[in-house]
Amino acid sequence: MGRAIAQTTDLGPRLRAHLGSGVTILDDHDQLECYAYDASFEAMMRPRLPEVVVQARNVHDVSATLAFAYEQRVPVTPRGAATGQAGGALPARGGIVLDMSGMNRVVELDARNLQVFVQPGIVHADLNAYLARFGLIFPPDPGSSRMCTVGGMVSNNSRGMRGVKYGPTGDYVLGLEVVLPNGTVITTGSQNSRALQSSSGFELTRLFVGSEGMLGVITEMRLRVIPKPRCRAMVMAEYGTLEAAGESVVAVLGAGILPSAIEILDSSAITAVNIYRPALMLPDAEAILLYEVDGNALSVTEDARRIAEVVTPLADRVEWSDEPKRVAALWEARSVVGAASGQIKPGCARVYAGEDICVPLARVPETLRAIQDTARRYDLTVVTYGHIASGNLHPAPVINVADTDAVGRVRRFADAIHRLARQMGGTVTGEHGVGLTRIAYMREEHGAALDVMWQIKRTLDPFNIMNPGKMFPPELTEA
Ligand SMILES: Cc1cc2nc3c(=O)[nH]c(=O)nc-3n(C[C@H](O)[C@H](O)[C@H](O)COP(=O)(O)OP(=O)(O)OC[C@H]3O[C@@H](n4cnc5c(N)ncnc54)[C@H](O)[C@@H]3O)c2cc1C
Repeated sequence: MGRAIAQTTDLGPRLRAHLGSGVTILDDHDQLECYAYDASFEAMMRPRLPEVVVQARNVHDVSATLAFAYEQRVPVTPRGAATGQAGGALPARGGIVLDMSGMNRVVELDARNLQVFVQPGIVHADLNAYLARFGLIFPPDPGSSRMCTVGGMVSNNSRGMRGVKYGPTGDYVLGLEVVLPNGTVITTGSQNSRALQSSSGFELTRLFVGSEGMLGVITEMRLRVIPKPRCRAMVMAEYGTLEAAGESVVAVLGAGILPSAIEILDSSAITAVNIYRPALMLPDAEAILLYEVDGNALSVTEDARRIAEVVTPLADRVEWSDEPKRVAALWEARSVVGAASGQIKPGCARVYAGEDICVPLARVPETLRAIQDTARRYDLTVVTYGHIASGNLHPAPVINVADTDAVGRVRRFADAIHRLARQMGGTVTGEHGVGLTRIAYMREEHGAALDVMWQIKRTLDPFNIMNPGKMFPPELTEA
């Protein structure tokens, strides 16, 4: 298992003969190159070329492609928008990339029953722009909202800044249409059901959520939507120590307030934002926390006022506003930090490596200090920000990728950061997934549970054609 995958060279013509002329199949080298990357450092360093790309139009294209691949033992890697940072959409073993981005329609909005049926290639921001017309929202909100597909979000169980209140993508998936590796199409979450909950049968929907394209291909999703909050307010607090920032989060939650987001910028992130957007004039603090609350006009004002009151004894300065323009201005520091981190060193780029650890809330300050120490140890510039209320931290190393020594130091830094997450009692990935880049930590993180995951994978995908080379270590795949 896992070793007998054919690396065919005449895949394009054979697939054309199998799928018929209506399906777009790419096998020209220049076209294939566009599919050799995602947003990961791994792809930047070592792009992986597929042999063929199939641009799926509907479930039949997907089913026919998988039936062919199953029969011929050809690897298939589903791909949304390739914004993933762990190499999940890279064809690690060549074969077919199944491009799902063209299947991007809203199939049906059932507003009365608070659900929407969509194809997987719909871009997250487009879905929410559509839902906003009906006063609804699909709450998970990754920073890549304007690029990533909702199918990719379901497959990675993505989160985002508002995860503290609204939870992960998986919490909003009521059912899925999935094509299994042998081409069979199933519906999870009860066929022809519009119920918002069910205790019927195994939770297969949850099995496919976060499965990173390794168990089948999602071709349609039944998603739960909620009324869109009408108002937001923001509190910005500056702290002299990371510990005070950490204590503030505990104090706010302890005061019975559940913000829609609590984001941290450490001193490195503050410096990056000030270089990138000097007009924001962020203070020279050890950390800034941004608290967002959402709801109706009265409740957000009351919650923001109360947060300001609770954090004032711990912070050096606190400001809050429920005025939309000021709220947007206060958010700006957080929304530009990703782009800003890449600008902190001339001639350098921000790379995604060790970028997504999640630690227990109580250990966030200690972890932030350890990240800074680790950066110094490897002589790297690292900007750190994240979703502090979930303990999800995004250290961003900034290097010249042509400098091989720096590349080696980033790899060692990423390894140290992943190990740090585990030492702190956390996980190597809070929202980006395992993909190619975190395989080495799976055994330590899951123990015997990893064997159960592998047994599930083998049951659904006996020839290991679905996105092979990801998540599982060679000790399992080559046994
Ligand atoms: C600037 C930036 C900001 C980001 N911010 C966040 C954030 O705040 N929170 C967060 O969680 N992530 C974030 N990400 C990571 C990434 O955007 C998410 O993981 C996203 O959900 C991936 O969607 P995608 O369409 O790009 O998927 P891809 O990268 O194309 O694929 C991701 C995985 O899903 C699988 N897949 C895709 N479509 C299907 C399908 N139809 N069926 C089965 N498997 C499929 C792929 O095989 C792969 O394993 C960010 C990325 C960038 C570049």
